[in-house]
Amino acid sequence: MAAETETFAFQAEISQLMSLIINTFYSNKEIFLRELISNASDALDKIRFESLTDKSKLDSEKELFIRITPNKEAKTIDIRDSGIGMTKADLVNNLGTIAKSGTKAFMEALQSGADISMIGQFGVGFYSAYLVADKVEVITKHNDDEQYIWESAAGGSFTITRDTVNPSIGRGTVIRLHMKDDQIEYVEEKKIKDIVKKHSEFIGYPIQLVVTKEVEKEVDDEDAAAEEAKKAEQEGEDDKPKIEEVDEDAEAAKAKPKKTIKEMTTETEELNKTKPLWTRNPDDIKPEEYGAFYKSLTNDWEDHLTVKHFSVEGQLEFRAILYIPKRAPFDMFEQKKKRNNIKLYVRRVFIMDDCEDLIPEWLNFVKGIVDSEDLPLNISREMLQQNKILKVIRKNLVKKCIEMFQEVAEDKENFAKFYENFAKNIKLGIHEDAANRGKLADLLRYHSTKSGEEMTSLKDYVTRMPEKQKNIYYITGESRQTVANSPFLEVLKKKGFEVLFMVDPIDEYAVQQLKDYDGKNLMSVTKEGLELEEDEEEKKTIEEQNATYAELIKAVKESLGDKVEKVVLSHRILHSPCVLVTGAYGWSANMERIMKAQALRDSTMSNYMASKKTLELNPNHPIVEALKTKVDADKNDATVKDLTFLLFETALLASGFSLEDPTAFAARIHRMVKLGLSIDEDDTADVDADVAAPNAAQPEDATAAASSMETVD
Ligand code: ADP
Ligand code: MG
Repeated sequence: MAAETETFAFQAEISQLMSLIINTFYSNKEIFLRELISNASDALDKIRFESLTDKSKLDSEKELFIRITPNKEAKTIDIRDSGIGMTKADLVNNLGTIAKSGTKAFMEALQSGADISMIGQFGVGFYSAYLVADKVEVITKHNDDEQYIWESAAGGSFTITRDTVNPSIGRGTVIRLHMKDDQIEYVEEKKIKDIVKKHSEFIGYPIQLVVTKEVEKEVDDEDAAAEEAKKAEQEGEDDKPKIEEVDEDAEAAKAKPKKTIKEMTTETEELNKTKPLWTRNPDDIKPEEYGAFYKSLTNDWEDHLTVKHFSVEGQLEFRAILYIPKRAPFDMFEQKKKRNNIKLYVRRVFIMDDCEDLIPEWLNFVKGIVDSEDLPLNISREMLQQNKILKVIRKNLVKKCIEMFQEVAEDKENFAKFYENFAKNIKLGIHEDAANRGKLADLLRYHSTKSGEEMTSLKDYVTRMPEKQKNIYYITGESRQTVANSPFLEVLKKKGFEVLFMVDPIDEYAVQQLKDYDGKNLMSVTKEGLELEEDEEEKKTIEEQNATYAELIKAVKESLGDKVEKVVLSHRILHSPCVLVTGAYGWSANMERIMKAQALRDSTMSNYMASKKTLELNPNHPIVEALKTKVDADKNDATVKDLTFLLFETALLASGFSLEDPTAFAARIHRMVKLGLSIDEDDTADVDADVAAPNAAQPEDATAAASSMETVD
């Protein structure tokens, strides 16, 4: 009875990816085998893990293996595994109808010059089969379902059929590649051996290659025997030699003529017999071996940046190899994504590769393996969460990771690369890991008012501090350029106090937790409570000015109402008339910007938490002085209110805030422009509103769009 065949359409992006792969001119096609073996190994990991708590899962096939069978005549290669297999639903979902985020990301990466061999990193490695095959069959059997055949020659669709033609495979999957005519070189045993050695040496299951051998075999030569018998007949009975009864058979056999023929037999050869790398002595391991192991572990096409191979002994025993990659993965901060970065083994047996409790999230870019001597083999996920041994392992891994970072920091060039990719993680670590905060702070690097093109460490900053400087100053903002020109730096620059530029949104979070370094407070130059180490004379001037400017301060506060918390005189600005500062423990302007950008994404977040602002006036600025004169002359001067608003709104912008009412601001500016051009107010009253609105809306939209690019998760 022929089974029914169902046809499915590939999801559009997958279809696009497949035709891209099929049509590519690309010489390094051999990576298809690495990808398919890697999938086989994953499938074996899954069934092994299930079997730890339920042995009977292996009943359908006890042996765990990967077997490659090339067939020259049929021009096919079978890659079989006795892994978990796929149910029919798995086939539909995993091989064609549900696109992962990596599908699109990979095509984009290709367009910007990425290499096809990066495919595995994007989670679409299966489709690399189409580099060499024009038709692929997936024959698969899961414990919970029948055996099925998935088949596709690309072209936008695939079929699934109950398998009634192939022999039963017990459990697991066969990927059968029907090779393109110009790719049959991969059917050669030698070629397969080389590729496996190169890309898949460290797979934790035996990779068998079915080889066909010609063997010579001696067989009875029937023709010759018949000939001889005929001859004997002709020569007569008499000549028959007398032989003893017992030996008759042996003698007869010996006498029978033989010939050798050639016969084809198949046998399996194991291609990956190396001992697990981590069990070996680090002194005997070559850098290339670490590199090859890293690649097999991660699907990365590039070598790692650095590696640490160590063992811990004592009340608990484990071995580990940890790697830092050269680049961050394309989806490092994608939240839902499950990480499989550190593989957990127990006494050489693979347990799982997505154990969340093994390493904290901020270290989610570190790859490697851990092999514990102490954990029970049949450990479940739930048990792992509570497990004390695992907690100790985790603590040790964090410690070793930080050591590894410190080692990288010894080489400036390498560290720059590292920092470019993983600074966010270090900052997240500062935010989350109180115990290691100090050590991680040593790894921070920032541009500053004194650093020039290079970045400075906090340690170097401290060595440059003038004697009277007590605190470490920083400014947060959207970009290096905006903060470098900020009015908040004016007095600090004059005093020779260096200011760090913190322009990564995550800095806002990290610096909240860091609070101090080397006994010195970290102080925001845009917030209240800024200490500028004034001397006695300066303090005296401040006092005097506070008295003379009391009337102006009152008038300005009255005009602005609750737009500002208070109005005070400023000592942090030199060339600007005024700035807006925020509360010492509240959000900075930059934080407000970040939160607003997040609120755009997530509308449940409103900006009722916006910072309380203090307007600081520069008593030495001519504008402020002139305003003071105006107020002193006439407390109720109507122009004061208007000018105050203008000053306030420009201060908002200069201090990094966004305008609440850009239309009103634009209108005020237009009035100023008209004043400048001596245009009579009444002449243009009608046009005014029309012009103001569309122009005014623009700046805020633009900031919002720019801001939303930069949010942290
Ligand atoms: P990834 O391996 O990163 O998940 P692939 O494109 O290589 O991406 O594979 C897609 C999915 O197809 C796998 O996640 C798995 O669910 C399924 N799959 C592929 N090969 C096998 C196999 N040999 N056995 C079981 N499932 C497989
Ligand atoms: Mg894969």
